[in-house]
Amino acid sequence: MAVIVIIGHSCKKNSLALDSTEDEVSKVKTALVKLGFDTASAIIKGEDIFVEGDILLKKSELFKTQSRHATAFSGGPFVIYENPIKFYVSPVLGNSSVITEALNEFSAIKNPYKDTNLPPFLNPSLGITFTEVFNENEANLIFHDFFENSIRLGYAQWPNVLPAENLPPPYVNHARLQTGKNMYFNTFHWSGLSISQKKFLVAHEFGHALGLRHTDWRRSEASAMNIDGVLIGAYTVPNTPNSTTNPDPNSLFNSGAGTTPFFWNGFTIYDKVAIWFVAGGGASAL
Ligand SMILES: [Zn+2]
Repeated sequence: MAVIVIIGHSCKKNSLALDSTEDEVSKVKTALVKLGFDTASAIIKGEDIFVEGDILLKKSELFKTQSRHATAFSGGPFVIYENPIKFYVSPVLGNSSVITEALNEFSAIKNPYKDTNLPPFLNPSLGITFTEVFNENEANLIFHDFFENSIRLGYAQWPNVLPAENLPPPYVNHARLQTGKNMYFNTFHWSGLSISQKKFLVAHEFGHALGLRHTDWRRSEASAMNIDGVLIGAYTVPNTPNSTTNPDPNSLFNSGAGTTPFFWNGFTIYDKVAIWFVAGGGASAL
């Protein structure tokens, strides 16, 4: 099985201090801690901040991003801010059909609570739709290519949380999730992947763009720890198992250290619960 994620510090030694003054670094680290990320593995490279190997944050947006703990990440669902999501695929990545297929798997998700004993939500389906555009400037989701001789297959930008719109009834006002705009795929590997592996990878990375962390974070990533008196960690999605170090072995959102076979095999029921928890408020009314 190929490895999906590398933990950041293996790839750019000393880059934490490369482009940033000490003051900036500590400001960025404080913001990361508030968002619940492990700062030890963070790599700051100009405007880009990599955390947990394959999550990309933009420095200029970091201070606009609301803390997951303080906002709806612990009390979702959000509505998806931009709908349909207009996506652009770098021609270097070739035929976009596998990307379209992976994204449409998210559109096709039906309310997972019907299959569990959990209380049902009202929405019958997730309501996210995707349209391919051929002008990068029109896109709110961009599939970039990059080349790096490393085990990294891809990475994705984290989303932003925006306030609710305050619409009149019958709309339910949820905070809005602006999905991460940029996803990157390593052409060192891309053309050698099977269609099924590409689909898996695209769906995994889009999960990050929706704000999902790795399902097996307790094993492969920093678990909750105290840094400067602040408890950081991942905020468990309610109604998903968390009693073992590998609670959902086939989850699409396991890290590269997880047990999920590297081919498209659909979402697990708890993947759907997690996606629903984040994005189940439906699509923005506008
Ligand atoms: Zn990942």
